[in-house]
Amino acid sequence: MPVYRSVVCPFCGCLCDDLEVTVEDNRIVKVRNGCAISTSKFLHHHENRVEKPLIDGESATLEEAVKEAAEILKSARRPLIYGLSSTECGAIAKAIELAELIGGVIDNTASVCHGPTILALQTLGESKCTLGTVRNRADLIIYWGCNPLEAHLRHLTRYSAMARGLYTSGGRKDRYVVAVDVRETRMKRVADLFVKVKPGGDYELLSALRAVVRGYGLDVDEVSGVPRDVILELAERMKKSRFGAIFFGLGLTQSEGRHMNIEAAIGLVADLNHHTKFVLIPMRGHYNVAGANTVTTWQTGYPYAVDFSRGYPRYNPGEYTAVDLLSRGEADAALIIASDPVAHLPYKAARRLAEIPTIVLDPKRSMTSMIGRVVIPTAAAGIEAEGTAYRMDGIPIRLKKLMEPPEGVLPDAEILSLIIEEVMG
Ligand code: SF4
Repeated sequence: MPVYRSVVCPFCGCLCDDLEVTVEDNRIVKVRNGCAISTSKFLHHHENRVEKPLIDGESATLEEAVKEAAEILKSARRPLIYGLSSTECGAIAKAIELAELIGGVIDNTASVCHGPTILALQTLGESKCTLGTVRNRADLIIYWGCNPLEAHLRHLTRYSAMARGLYTSGGRKDRYVVAVDVRETRMKRVADLFVKVKPGGDYELLSALRAVVRGYGLDVDEVSGVPRDVILELAERMKKSRFGAIFFGLGLTQSEGRHMNIEAAIGLVADLNHHTKFVLIPMRGHYNVAGANTVTTWQTGYPYAVDFSRGYPRYNPGEYTAVDLLSRGEADAALIIASDPVAHLPYKAARRLAEIPTIVLDPKRSMTSMIGRVVIPTAAAGIEAEGTAYRMDGIPIRLKKLMEPPEGVLPDAEILSLIIEEVMG
Protein backbone atom coordinates (compact mmCIF):
# COMPACT_ATOMS: atom_id res chain seq x y z
CA MET A 1 0.00 0.00 0.00
CA PRO A 2 1.60 3.31 -1.00
CA VAL A 3 2.09 5.65 1.94
CA TYR A 4 2.55 9.28 0.90
CA ARG A 5 4.52 11.39 3.35
CA SER A 6 4.72 15.19 3.73
CA VAL A 7 1.28 15.46 2.15
CA VAL A 8 -0.23 18.94 2.11
CA CYS A 9 -3.76 19.14 3.46
CA PRO A 10 -5.98 20.98 0.95
CA PHE A 11 -8.80 22.04 3.26
CA CYS A 12 -8.00 25.15 5.28
CA GLY A 13 -5.61 28.08 5.05
CA CYS A 14 -3.11 26.39 7.41
CA LEU A 15 -2.06 24.06 4.55
CA CYS A 16 -0.41 21.65 7.04
CA ASP A 17 2.28 19.82 5.09
CA ASP A 18 3.17 16.92 7.39
CA LEU A 19 0.34 14.47 6.73
CA GLU A 20 0.84 10.79 5.95
CA VAL A 21 -1.79 9.29 3.70
CA THR A 22 -2.16 5.59 2.88
CA VAL A 23 -3.82 4.67 -0.41
CA GLU A 24 -5.12 1.18 -1.20
CA ASP A 25 -6.84 0.24 -4.48
CA ASN A 26 -7.07 3.92 -5.43
CA ARG A 27 -8.87 4.74 -2.17
CA ILE A 28 -7.55 6.60 0.88
CA VAL A 29 -7.68 4.24 3.86
CA LYS A 30 -5.60 5.97 6.50
CA VAL A 31 -4.54 9.52 7.40
CA ARG A 32 -1.95 10.41 10.04
CA ASN A 33 -1.29 13.84 11.58
CA GLY A 34 -4.44 15.39 10.10
CA CYS A 35 -7.01 17.18 12.27
CA ALA A 36 -10.58 15.87 12.51
CA ILE A 37 -11.69 17.98 9.53
CA SER A 38 -8.80 16.88 7.37
CA THR A 39 -9.08 13.18 8.25
CA SER A 40 -12.79 13.14 7.53
CA LYS A 41 -12.37 15.01 4.23
CA PHE A 42 -9.60 12.70 2.99
CA LEU A 43 -11.34 9.47 4.05
CA HIS A 44 -14.69 10.51 2.56
CA HIS A 45 -13.48 12.41 -0.48
CA HIS A 46 -14.92 9.75 -2.84
CA GLU A 47 -18.44 10.28 -1.45
CA ASN A 48 -21.10 12.59 -2.89
CA ARG A 49 -19.20 12.99 -6.16
CA VAL A 50 -20.51 14.47 -9.36
CA GLU A 51 -20.19 11.32 -11.44
CA LYS A 52 -20.58 12.55 -14.99
CA PRO A 53 -21.14 15.78 -16.92
CA LEU A 54 -24.74 17.00 -16.91
CA ILE A 55 -26.67 19.40 -19.13
CA ASP A 56 -30.08 20.38 -17.71
CA GLY A 57 -29.83 17.39 -15.36
CA GLU A 58 -29.29 14.89 -18.19
CA SER A 59 -26.07 12.93 -18.71
CA ALA A 60 -23.77 14.31 -21.38
CA THR A 61 -20.27 13.69 -22.66
CA LEU A 62 -17.45 15.95 -21.58
CA GLU A 63 -17.24 17.34 -25.14
CA GLU A 64 -20.95 18.21 -25.14
CA ALA A 65 -20.73 19.85 -21.71
CA VAL A 66 -17.67 21.89 -22.69
CA LYS A 67 -19.35 23.00 -25.94
CA GLU A 68 -22.53 24.03 -24.09
CA ALA A 69 -20.50 25.90 -21.46
CA ALA A 70 -18.58 27.77 -24.17
CA GLU A 71 -21.84 28.68 -25.95
CA ILE A 72 -23.36 30.05 -22.74
CA LEU A 73 -20.30 32.16 -21.97
CA LYS A 74 -19.89 33.44 -25.54
CA SER A 75 -23.48 34.54 -25.88
CA ALA A 76 -23.71 36.21 -22.45
CA ARG A 77 -23.64 40.00 -22.22
CA ARG A 78 -22.31 40.12 -18.62
CA PRO A 79 -20.79 36.73 -17.70
CA LEU A 80 -19.45 36.19 -14.18
CA ILE A 81 -16.71 33.75 -13.15
CA TYR A 82 -16.68 33.12 -9.41
CA GLY A 83 -15.25 30.84 -6.70
CA LEU A 84 -11.66 29.58 -7.06
CA SER A 85 -10.71 29.36 -3.37
CA SER A 86 -10.66 25.53 -3.34
CA THR A 87 -8.64 24.84 -6.45
CA GLU A 88 -4.97 25.19 -7.38
CA CYS A 89 -3.24 28.23 -8.87
CA GLY A 90 -2.96 26.85 -12.44
CA ALA A 91 -6.75 26.63 -12.63
CA ILE A 92 -7.10 30.17 -11.25
CA ALA A 93 -4.75 31.46 -13.99
CA LYS A 94 -6.84 29.69 -16.65
CA ALA A 95 -10.07 31.15 -15.23
CA ILE A 96 -8.61 34.67 -15.53
CA GLU A 97 -7.56 33.94 -19.13
CA LEU A 98 -11.13 32.87 -19.87
CA ALA A 99 -12.61 35.96 -18.16
CA GLU A 100 -10.46 38.21 -20.33
CA LEU A 101 -11.40 36.29 -23.47
CA ILE A 102 -15.16 36.58 -22.88
CA GLY A 103 -15.00 40.15 -21.50
CA GLY A 104 -16.47 38.98 -18.22
CA VAL A 105 -16.14 39.73 -14.53
CA ILE A 106 -14.00 37.49 -12.33
CA ASP A 107 -14.35 37.44 -8.57
CA ASN A 108 -13.25 35.04 -5.85
CA THR A 109 -14.61 34.16 -2.43
CA ALA A 110 -12.34 36.70 -0.73
CA SER A 111 -15.05 39.22 -1.59
CA VAL A 112 -17.21 37.67 1.16
CA CYS A 113 -14.45 36.97 3.71
CA HIS A 114 -11.14 38.87 3.80
CA GLY A 115 -11.92 41.38 1.02
CA PRO A 116 -12.00 44.19 3.63
CA THR A 117 -8.57 43.03 4.83
CA ILE A 118 -7.17 43.45 1.32
CA LEU A 119 -8.74 46.92 0.99
CA ALA A 120 -7.12 48.01 4.25
CA LEU A 121 -3.74 46.49 3.36
CA GLN A 122 -3.79 48.26 0.00
CA THR A 123 -4.30 51.55 1.83
CA LEU A 124 -1.83 51.17 4.69
CA GLY A 125 0.56 48.28 3.97
CA GLU A 126 1.20 45.46 6.39
CA SER A 127 3.61 44.16 8.98
CA LYS A 128 3.70 40.41 8.52
CA CYS A 129 5.85 37.29 8.74
CA THR A 130 5.58 33.58 8.10
CA LEU A 131 3.78 31.19 10.44
CA GLY A 132 7.20 29.61 11.05
CA THR A 133 8.48 32.90 12.48
CA VAL A 134 5.46 33.10 14.79
CA ARG A 135 6.12 29.54 15.93
CA ASN A 136 9.80 30.26 16.62
CA ARG A 137 9.56 33.72 18.15
CA ALA A 138 6.15 34.97 19.28
CA ASP A 139 5.64 35.23 23.03
CA LEU A 140 2.33 37.10 22.76
CA ILE A 141 -0.43 35.71 20.55
CA ILE A 142 -3.77 37.47 20.09
CA TYR A 143 -6.73 35.91 18.28
CA TRP A 144 -9.22 38.62 17.36
CA GLY A 145 -12.64 37.71 15.96
CA CYS A 146 -11.61 34.17 15.08
CA ASN A 147 -11.87 30.75 16.64
CA PRO A 148 -9.11 28.40 15.49
CA LEU A 149 -10.45 25.66 17.78
CA GLU A 150 -13.41 25.33 15.38
CA ALA A 151 -12.03 26.52 12.04
CA HIS A 152 -8.25 25.98 11.92
CA LEU A 153 -7.81 23.03 14.24
CA ARG A 154 -4.02 22.62 14.10
CA HIS A 155 -3.17 26.32 14.05
CA LEU A 156 -2.59 26.43 17.81
CA THR A 157 -0.47 23.30 18.04
CA ARG A 158 1.49 23.66 14.82
CA TYR A 159 2.08 27.40 14.42
CA SER A 160 0.94 29.48 17.37
CA ALA A 161 -0.21 29.17 21.01
CA MET A 162 1.07 25.68 21.82
CA ALA A 163 3.80 25.17 19.23
CA ARG A 164 7.38 24.69 20.46
CA GLY A 165 9.78 26.82 18.45
CA LEU A 166 13.43 27.84 18.40
CA TYR A 167 13.04 30.64 20.96
CA THR A 168 9.80 29.31 22.44
CA SER A 169 10.92 25.81 23.39
CA GLY A 170 8.52 25.77 26.35
CA GLY A 171 5.57 25.94 23.93
CA ARG A 172 2.43 27.15 25.67
CA LYS A 173 4.40 28.06 28.82
CA ASP A 174 6.50 30.54 26.82
CA ARG A 175 3.54 32.45 25.43
CA TYR A 176 0.80 34.70 26.70
CA VAL A 177 -2.43 34.09 24.79
CA VAL A 178 -5.28 36.57 24.38
CA ALA A 179 -8.63 35.99 22.65
CA VAL A 180 -10.97 38.87 21.72
CA ASP A 181 -14.51 38.04 20.64
CA VAL A 182 -18.11 39.16 20.98
CA ARG A 183 -19.10 35.96 22.77
CA GLU A 184 -17.39 33.43 24.94
CA THR A 185 -16.09 30.74 22.62
CA ARG A 186 -14.02 27.67 23.50
CA MET A 187 -10.98 29.94 23.09
CA LYS A 188 -11.79 31.27 26.57
CA ARG A 189 -10.46 28.00 28.02
CA VAL A 190 -7.23 28.23 26.01
CA ALA A 191 -6.49 31.94 26.51
CA ASP A 192 -4.75 33.57 29.48
CA LEU A 193 -6.97 36.59 28.91
CA PHE A 194 -10.37 36.54 27.24
CA VAL A 195 -11.68 39.98 26.23
CA LYS A 196 -15.39 40.19 25.50
CA VAL A 197 -16.10 43.11 23.21
CA LYS A 198 -19.58 44.47 22.42
CA PRO A 199 -20.78 43.51 18.90
CA GLY A 200 -19.70 46.27 16.50
CA GLY A 201 -17.28 47.71 19.09
CA ASP A 202 -13.96 46.42 17.67
CA TYR A 203 -12.97 49.70 16.02
CA GLU A 204 -13.40 51.65 19.27
CA LEU A 205 -11.47 49.05 21.26
CA LEU A 206 -8.61 48.99 18.74
CA SER A 207 -8.54 52.82 18.75
CA ALA A 208 -8.45 52.88 22.57
CA LEU A 209 -5.52 50.42 22.56
CA ARG A 210 -3.75 52.63 20.00
CA ALA A 211 -4.24 55.69 22.18
CA VAL A 212 -2.78 53.95 25.25
CA VAL A 213 0.14 52.48 23.27
CA ARG A 214 0.89 56.05 22.06
CA GLY A 215 1.01 57.24 25.66
CA TYR A 216 -2.42 58.85 26.05
CA GLY A 217 -4.65 58.17 29.04
CA LEU A 218 -8.23 56.90 29.00
CA ASP A 219 -10.77 59.13 30.73
CA VAL A 220 -13.62 56.60 30.47
CA ASP A 221 -14.40 53.53 32.58
CA GLU A 222 -14.88 51.20 29.66
CA VAL A 223 -14.67 51.03 25.87
CA SER A 224 -16.98 48.72 23.93
CA GLY A 225 -17.79 46.86 27.14
CA VAL A 226 -14.12 46.29 28.05
CA PRO A 227 -13.06 47.78 31.41
CA ARG A 228 -10.37 50.47 31.35
CA ASP A 229 -7.98 48.38 33.51
CA VAL A 230 -8.12 45.50 31.03
CA ILE A 231 -7.28 47.85 28.14
CA LEU A 232 -4.37 49.40 30.06
CA GLU A 233 -3.02 45.98 31.04
CA LEU A 234 -3.32 44.59 27.52
CA ALA A 235 -1.61 47.63 25.95
CA GLU A 236 1.24 47.32 28.46
CA ARG A 237 1.61 43.63 27.79
CA MET A 238 1.71 44.28 24.03
CA LYS A 239 4.45 46.89 24.41
CA LYS A 240 6.52 44.66 26.68
CA SER A 241 6.27 41.51 24.58
CA ARG A 242 9.36 40.32 22.69
CA PHE A 243 7.40 39.44 19.55
CA GLY A 244 3.65 39.77 19.21
CA ALA A 245 1.25 38.41 16.59
CA ILE A 246 -2.41 39.27 16.00
CA PHE A 247 -4.39 36.67 14.07
CA PHE A 248 -7.80 37.92 13.00
CA GLY A 249 -10.87 36.49 11.32
CA LEU A 250 -14.29 37.35 9.97
CA GLY A 251 -15.37 38.65 13.38
CA LEU A 252 -13.26 41.67 12.48
CA THR A 253 -13.58 41.80 8.68
CA GLN A 254 -17.32 41.23 8.35
CA SER A 255 -18.63 43.07 11.42
CA GLU A 256 -19.59 46.74 11.58
CA GLY A 257 -16.61 48.79 10.43
CA ARG A 258 -15.22 46.09 8.09
CA HIS A 259 -12.09 47.48 6.38
CA MET A 260 -11.98 50.33 8.92
CA ASN A 261 -11.53 47.71 11.65
CA ILE A 262 -8.56 46.29 9.79
CA GLU A 263 -7.12 49.77 9.25
CA ALA A 264 -7.34 50.30 13.02
CA ALA A 265 -5.61 46.94 13.62
CA ILE A 266 -2.86 47.81 11.10
CA GLY A 267 -2.43 51.18 12.85
CA LEU A 268 -2.17 49.47 16.25
CA VAL A 269 0.47 47.08 14.94
CA ALA A 270 2.39 50.00 13.35
CA ASP A 271 2.32 51.85 16.69
CA LEU A 272 3.49 48.74 18.54
CA ASN A 273 6.45 48.42 16.20
CA HIS A 274 7.85 51.58 17.83
CA HIS A 275 8.20 49.49 21.00
CA THR A 276 8.72 45.88 19.89
CA LYS A 277 8.18 43.54 16.93
CA PHE A 278 4.51 42.99 16.08
CA VAL A 279 2.74 41.40 13.10
CA LEU A 280 -0.82 40.99 11.81
CA ILE A 281 -1.90 37.84 9.93
CA PRO A 282 -5.39 37.07 8.55
CA MET A 283 -6.85 33.64 9.26
CA ARG A 284 -7.68 32.65 5.68
CA GLY A 285 -10.41 30.00 5.47
CA HIS A 286 -10.45 28.02 2.23
CA TYR A 287 -7.09 26.46 1.52
CA ASN A 288 -6.24 28.54 -1.56
CA VAL A 289 -8.27 31.72 -1.17
CA ALA A 290 -4.93 33.48 -0.62
CA GLY A 291 -3.77 31.96 -3.94
CA ALA A 292 -6.90 33.24 -5.69
CA ASN A 293 -5.97 36.78 -4.57
CA THR A 294 -2.29 36.31 -5.42
CA VAL A 295 -2.76 34.89 -8.92
CA THR A 296 -5.47 37.44 -9.78
CA THR A 297 -3.09 40.20 -8.68
CA TRP A 298 -0.21 38.82 -10.80
CA GLN A 299 -2.34 38.67 -13.89
CA THR A 300 -4.63 41.68 -13.61
CA GLY A 301 -3.05 43.94 -11.00
CA TYR A 302 -6.06 43.48 -8.69
CA PRO A 303 -6.90 40.79 -6.11
CA TYR A 304 -10.65 40.21 -6.77
CA ALA A 305 -13.72 41.91 -8.32
CA VAL A 306 -12.09 42.42 -11.73
CA ASP A 307 -14.12 43.45 -14.79
CA PHE A 308 -12.80 42.80 -18.33
CA SER A 309 -15.82 44.17 -20.21
CA ARG A 310 -13.78 47.01 -21.72
CA GLY A 311 -10.96 44.68 -22.75
CA TYR A 312 -8.68 45.70 -19.87
CA PRO A 313 -8.98 44.97 -16.14
CA ARG A 314 -10.95 47.34 -13.92
CA TYR A 315 -11.35 46.86 -10.16
CA ASN A 316 -14.23 47.98 -8.00
CA PRO A 317 -15.33 45.99 -4.95
CA GLY A 318 -19.00 46.74 -4.32
CA GLU A 319 -19.68 46.97 -8.05
CA TYR A 320 -17.88 44.02 -9.66
CA THR A 321 -18.10 41.72 -6.62
CA ALA A 322 -20.23 38.62 -7.21
CA VAL A 323 -22.87 39.41 -4.57
CA ASP A 324 -23.46 42.88 -6.01
CA LEU A 325 -23.40 41.83 -9.66
CA LEU A 326 -25.88 39.00 -8.99
CA SER A 327 -28.14 40.93 -6.59
CA ARG A 328 -28.54 43.74 -9.14
CA GLY A 329 -29.59 41.13 -11.71
CA GLU A 330 -26.71 42.22 -13.93
CA ALA A 331 -24.91 38.92 -14.46
CA ASP A 332 -26.68 36.94 -17.20
CA ALA A 333 -24.49 33.79 -17.06
CA ALA A 334 -22.11 32.38 -14.48
CA LEU A 335 -19.24 29.93 -14.27
CA ILE A 336 -18.71 28.69 -10.71
CA ILE A 337 -15.41 26.93 -9.99
CA ALA A 338 -14.68 25.00 -6.77
CA SER A 339 -17.18 26.87 -4.66
CA ASP A 340 -20.77 26.65 -3.43
CA PRO A 341 -22.22 30.17 -3.61
CA VAL A 342 -25.87 29.02 -3.51
CA ALA A 343 -25.20 27.72 0.01
CA HIS A 344 -23.35 30.83 1.16
CA LEU A 345 -24.33 34.00 -0.70
CA PRO A 346 -27.32 36.16 0.31
CA TYR A 347 -30.71 34.98 -0.96
CA LYS A 348 -31.03 37.53 -3.79
CA ALA A 349 -27.63 36.66 -5.22
CA ALA A 350 -28.21 32.91 -4.90
CA ARG A 351 -31.65 33.22 -6.52
CA ARG A 352 -30.12 35.03 -9.50
CA LEU A 353 -27.72 32.11 -10.01
CA ALA A 354 -30.75 29.82 -10.29
CA GLU A 355 -32.38 32.15 -12.85
CA ILE A 356 -29.46 32.45 -15.27
CA PRO A 357 -27.54 29.69 -17.09
CA THR A 358 -24.92 28.62 -14.55
CA ILE A 359 -21.98 26.32 -15.27
CA VAL A 360 -20.51 24.46 -12.31
CA LEU A 361 -17.06 22.84 -12.10
CA ASP A 362 -16.78 20.83 -8.88
CA PRO A 363 -15.68 17.37 -7.72
CA LYS A 364 -18.71 17.14 -5.40
CA ARG A 365 -22.45 17.61 -5.54
CA SER A 366 -23.47 20.84 -3.84
CA MET A 367 -26.42 23.21 -3.67
CA THR A 368 -24.85 25.10 -6.58
CA SER A 369 -24.44 21.96 -8.68
CA MET A 370 -28.17 21.28 -8.09
CA ILE A 371 -29.11 24.50 -9.90
CA GLY A 372 -26.38 24.26 -12.56
CA ARG A 373 -27.44 24.24 -16.21
CA VAL A 374 -24.11 22.56 -17.05
CA VAL A 375 -22.26 20.57 -14.38
CA ILE A 376 -18.78 19.17 -15.05
CA PRO A 377 -17.05 16.88 -12.51
CA THR A 378 -13.44 17.74 -11.71
CA ALA A 379 -10.45 16.04 -10.07
CA ALA A 380 -9.91 17.20 -6.47
CA ALA A 381 -6.72 19.28 -6.27
CA GLY A 382 -4.32 18.00 -3.61
CA ILE A 383 -5.78 14.49 -3.83
CA GLU A 384 -6.33 13.62 -7.50
CA ALA A 385 -4.34 16.45 -9.09
CA GLU A 386 -1.20 18.35 -8.17
CA GLY A 387 -0.76 22.10 -8.18
CA THR A 388 0.25 25.05 -6.01
CA ALA A 389 -1.65 26.74 -3.19
CA TYR A 390 -0.85 29.74 -0.97
CA ARG A 391 -0.95 29.40 2.81
CA MET A 392 -2.63 32.09 4.94
CA ASP A 393 0.74 33.82 5.42
CA GLY A 394 1.36 34.00 1.66
CA ILE A 395 3.77 31.05 1.35
CA PRO A 396 3.27 28.95 -1.82
CA ILE A 397 3.19 25.19 -1.19
CA ARG A 398 3.07 22.38 -3.73
CA LEU A 399 0.07 20.04 -3.48
CA LYS A 400 0.54 16.33 -4.24
CA LYS A 401 -1.43 13.97 -6.40
CA LEU A 402 -2.16 10.86 -4.32
CA MET A 403 -4.44 8.84 -6.57
CA GLU A 404 -6.19 8.78 -9.92
CA PRO A 405 -9.49 10.66 -10.37
CA PRO A 406 -12.56 8.72 -11.58
CA GLU A 407 -12.28 7.71 -15.24
CA GLY A 408 -12.71 10.61 -17.66
CA VAL A 409 -12.57 13.24 -14.89
CA LEU A 410 -9.99 16.01 -15.48
CA PRO A 411 -8.49 18.72 -13.24
CA ASP A 412 -10.09 22.20 -13.29
CA ALA A 413 -7.21 23.69 -15.31
CA GLU A 414 -7.63 21.15 -18.13
CA ILE A 415 -11.39 21.64 -18.33
CA LEU A 416 -10.93 25.41 -18.42
CA SER A 417 -8.38 24.97 -21.23
CA LEU A 418 -10.96 22.98 -23.20
CA ILE A 419 -13.58 25.71 -22.66
CA ILE A 420 -11.05 28.36 -23.76
CA GLU A 421 -10.28 26.39 -26.94
CA GLU A 422 -13.99 26.06 -27.67
CA VAL A 423 -14.64 29.78 -27.04
CA MET A 424 -11.77 30.69 -29.36
CA GLY A 425 -13.27 28.36 -32.00
S1 SF4 B 1 -5.67 22.57 10.34
FE1 SF4 B 1 -6.45 22.89 8.26
S2 SF4 B 1 -4.72 22.39 6.88
FE2 SF4 B 1 -4.22 21.58 8.93
S3 SF4 B 1 -4.90 19.44 8.87
FE3 SF4 B 1 -6.65 20.65 9.70
S4 SF4 B 1 -7.93 21.21 7.90
FE4 SF4 B 1 -5.91 20.51 7.16
